Amino acid sequence: MSRINLKSAATLREPTELVAHGLASAADLPDLEKVAARYAVAVTPDIAALIDPGDPDDPIARQFIPSAEELVAQPGENADPIGDHAHAPVAGIVHRYPDRVLFKLVHVCAVYCRFCFRREMVGPGKATALSSDAYNGALDYIRAHSEIWEVILTGGDPLMLSPRRLGEIMADLAAIDHVKIIRIHTRVPVADPARISAEMVAALKVEGAATWVALHANHARELTRKARAACAAMIDAGIPMVSQSVLLRGVNDDVAALEALMRGFVECRIKPYYLHHGDLAPGTAHLRTTLEHGQQLMRDLRGRVSGLCQPDYVLDIPGGYGKAPVGPSYLSQANSSPGEGELDPETRYRIVDYCGDVHRYPPKP
Ligand code: SF4
Repeated sequence: MSRINLKSAATLREPTELVAHGLASAADLPDLEKVAARYAVAVTPDIAALIDPGDPDDPIARQFIPSAEELVAQPGENADPIGDHAHAPVAGIVHRYPDRVLFKLVHVCAVYCRFCFRREMVGPGKATALSSDAYNGALDYIRAHSEIWEVILTGGDPLMLSPRRLGEIMADLAAIDHVKIIRIHTRVPVADPARISAEMVAALKVEGAATWVALHANHARELTRKARAACAAMIDAGIPMVSQSVLLRGVNDDVAALEALMRGFVECRIKPYYLHHGDLAPGTAHLRTTLEHGQQLMRDLRGRVSGLCQPDYVLDIPGGYGKAPVGPSYLSQANSSPGEGELDPETRYRIVDYCGDVHRYPPKP
C-alpha cells in the first residue's frame, strides 16, 4: 500500500511529489507537469493512504492522480459545462432554480478531483476569493429575493473555511427570514476528516435555519473509519446528511462498486441523493461512461439493494438548464409496443419489475 506516513505527510501538490511517493511514474512527469500547469492538483495524506501504488487501475488514484489524458479535450467539452455563468446575477451567486441559489464562497478544495465540473474555476490562482464587498453583495441579493428558501454553499469546498468564518456566514444566512435551509456540499469528511472538529460541527448548527450536509464520495473505500466518524459527529449533532457521487469509468461503473458505495452511505446514515452523469468538463472524457451504461447500472442496482440505497441518476443539462433525471423508466404505455395485437383497454401499461420481467398494469382479471 501507499508509502505515505499520515503523521508527517503534507498534502501533495506537485507532480514531482506524486512521483517521489510512488503515486505516479517518473516517465509520465513531463505530461503531468503540463496537466498541473492547467488544473489544480492536491492529494491529502488521508487520500494518498487509500491509494495502492501497485494497482494501475486503483479507483482512488483515478479520481485524484492527474493523467496525460486530461490534456485532450473532446468536442462538446466546455469550461463551464453546467452553465453556472448563465445564471450568475452577482458575484458568488448562481440562481438557476426559483427557490434556491448556489453561494460559491471559496475556490479551493482539500483535494482536486480529476473529473471536476468546475475545474476551470477551482484551485489556487483560478479565481479570487469573494471580497468583502462581493460577499455583502451576495447576501443583499439573497435578502432581496424572498423566493430563496435554500442556500447551497459550494465552491470550492466550504469546509475549507475556518469554523469561525463559517459560523459567521451561517449566522448571516440564518438571519434572513426566508432562508430556511442551508445545504453544504463537501468532500472534506473524506479528504481531510480531521477538519470536522467539534468547533466545525458547532459552526454548522445555527438558529433559524436547518443545516444539511451533502457528502461527495465515489468509492466505498473513501468511507474510512475516520470519514465515518467525521460524518457521525455531524449527524449526531442533528445535521442530516445526503450523498452525491459522480458515475466514473474505472471507479464505480460496475454494479458491485456502486452497491458497496450506496450501502456504505446508508450504513453511515447518509441518504444516497444524486448519482451524477459525468459533466462535459475539459479533458475528462476518459472518466465518463455512456448514459446507456448508467441506466443499466441503475436497473441492476434496483435489483440488488433496498430503496434506501437508491440515488437519483441525474444529468446537468449543458448550457445551464438544470438537472434532469436520466435513470431508466419502468413504466410505458402498453400500446407503444408494436406487434402486440389488440389491447385490452383495462391493461394499459407495461411495467418492468426488478428482475426485468414485464407485467401489464392493471393485471388482466
Ligand atoms: S471537491 Fe468538488 S469542487 Fe473541489 S475539485 Fe472535487 S469536485 Fe471539484
